[in-house]
Amino acid sequence: MTRPFVSESAHPGRWWHALPDGRVQCDLCPRDCSLHEGQRGACFVRRAVGGAMQLTTYGRSSGFCLDPIEKKPLNHFHPGSSVLSFGTAGCNLACKFCQNWDISKSRDMDRLLDAASPGAIAATAQRHGARSVAYTYNDPVIFAEYAIDTALACRARGIRNVAVSAGYIHAQPRRELFALMDAANIDLKAFSEEFYVRLCGGHLQNVLDTLVWIRHESDCWLEITTLLIPGHNDSDAELKQLVAWVMRELGPDVPLHFSAFHPDWKMADVPATPPATLARARQIALAAGLRYAYTGNVHDRAGDTTFCPGCHAALIVRDWYDILHYELADDGRCPHCGTAIAGRFGGFAKPFGARRMPLHLAAE
Ligand code: SF4
Repeated sequence: MTRPFVSESAHPGRWWHALPDGRVQCDLCPRDCSLHEGQRGACFVRRAVGGAMQLTTYGRSSGFCLDPIEKKPLNHFHPGSSVLSFGTAGCNLACKFCQNWDISKSRDMDRLLDAASPGAIAATAQRHGARSVAYTYNDPVIFAEYAIDTALACRARGIRNVAVSAGYIHAQPRRELFALMDAANIDLKAFSEEFYVRLCGGHLQNVLDTLVWIRHESDCWLEITTLLIPGHNDSDAELKQLVAWVMRELGPDVPLHFSAFHPDWKMADVPATPPATLARARQIALAAGLRYAYTGNVHDRAGDTTFCPGCHAALIVRDWYDILHYELADDGRCPHCGTAIAGRFGGFAKPFGARRMPLHLAAE
């Protein structure tokens, strides 16, 4: 059988400038690639052509899927709703523990089998009853022009936008991309510059800047995920520093998800995260005063549950991506004591459930 092939799709890049020596300097992310004619950036999907920057994956996707919003993970953003998720190829970080390496490390553009315009994505989300579209799987930062155009098309139809990102982006494109997002889950991969440099090829401060900007300068709802890797970022001391920073700079209402690592990519020799490590991290966050701390990628009833910070009632009980019990009022208040739960709520209906529904947009 012949595999369908979708060629690269060149689109003018938006954030770059020409250097005096003829190279093209990318201004999208702090990798600051300076490219000779024909050369590709570290993300592989941006290329210098004719003295200008091109995005080579515009309108091309590695796949579309209807997911529960809990899978992003977002626990305080329209719980139970479905989200049309898609990504492209490549990544601007080089995490040795990448859990999506088949997509993010892909240099094989024929992985991008599904073609879809921004308008087609928005229309498909609406047709399938998705409350939002998620830019995910790899990082929307590197396909920001495509994500922005799609987000505008979604807004025109009343569809919300969700970014799942490492937040490694310069200030100007950060403003342009996240201003269009209604919610974001940002990876805070560790609380150590050494970790970011050694294991990700990036720097911590820029990610912290993104978190602060989203929390204080935008209307985008923010949740954070930290993948706990045994022996690398899971010490009590580092976790205490991380949650203290979140409390101080972002406040107690930003939900924190501690998720389980599984051996993968270049760290296949590191064991999976024990559930006890996730539970310990969650307790450290709660003890520091954070109101919403979760565990992920494991079955943990307490770590999956949203408790009222006022009266401690279990308001949203989950099992992984399934919602077992929901008793939040439409205005997001606890029905027992009236405490407002931070997030975006309203109109809870029958939950989408834990299923995952692949869609092939070209065939729709
Ligand atoms: S977006 Fe890509 S090309 Fe631009 S600086 Fe980052 S890694 Fe380099």
